[in-house]
Amino acid sequence: MAHEAAIGVDIGGTKIHFAVVDDNGQIRCQDIVPTRGERGAQAVMETVLTGIASMIDIHGRLEEPPPITGIGIGSAGQIHYATGNVAHALDGIPGWIGTPIKRAVEQRFPYPVYVDNDVNVIGIAEKRFGAGRTLDHFICLALGTGVGGAIFHSGRLLRGAYGGAGELGHISVDFNGPRCSCGNFGCLELYASGTGIARIVRERSAKHGVSDPGIDSKDVMAAWHAGESWAEEVMQVAIRALSVGISGIIHAFNPQAVIVGGGVASNGDLLLKEVSEQVRQTTASAMWNEVKLLPASMGASSGVIGAAAQRWF
Ligand SMILES: [Zn+2]
Repeated sequence: MAHEAAIGVDIGGTKIHFAVVDDNGQIRCQDIVPTRGERGAQAVMETVLTGIASMIDIHGRLEEPPPITGIGIGSAGQIHYATGNVAHALDGIPGWIGTPIKRAVEQRFPYPVYVDNDVNVIGIAEKRFGAGRTLDHFICLALGTGVGGAIFHSGRLLRGAYGGAGELGHISVDFNGPRCSCGNFGCLELYASGTGIARIVRERSAKHGVSDPGIDSKDVMAAWHAGESWAEEVMQVAIRALSVGISGIIHAFNPQAVIVGGGVASNGDLLLKEVSEQVRQTTASAMWNEVKLLPASMGASSGVIGAAAQRWF
């Protein structure tokens, strides 16, 4: 039996996912709207506030709704944890940096408000309801458009000085590698994200004198699973980068598990198997013997469920 519920909002570059989630992790009602970030930060915040009001309304008309006790928000970019302001973001939403998400929502609704970045809230979903339920020390890696991370230490999220900790996609796996948007060279996300895998395909095509095939990471994964050799070559680059990165992460944090999720890792049994085999060879045995590589278990709604679950974390 659910005793209470919280509103979750997952603000991404292309869509905003709203839901009322109960304390068993079940979605009671939900809605997805386009972000249309080009409208700017203020317009996006208005969409967020309207969506929350609509969730409260719809939830109130369900049969015996558990009471709403909080609002949790996950946003792309980095969140200044103490204030709930956006500390850093890419260009998708002009003016998003500095947006006082927490304050704007608190001013409109009479509930406690929690704000964190989109990957930390995925980690919270796994910790509260998923593969991290019984773990105190684990890492979540989300392989999506970029690569994001969430680090759990002694049952708590490691946040660093202002909330920026866990940007594991910007661990370098090749100091001779290309320049990353963060300034560093050869970052993990240049190889193991959806855009990274597409970039490797483009570079290989150019090298073979073929024009840009316009292939995305989904096409590569499908061709890889079908046993096509060009996709095998591309994926071996991604797998090697991921393995070296995960090995470094294991040495840094001595986790009980590394939970791997995100679009690139969906249907990821083969990916995890190959990565595990390589990580075993590049990780000190005392560390390797204590760590498991696990697939994320919360699925496509992990962002919105984790956003709401901040209420109970
Ligand atoms: Zn980087």
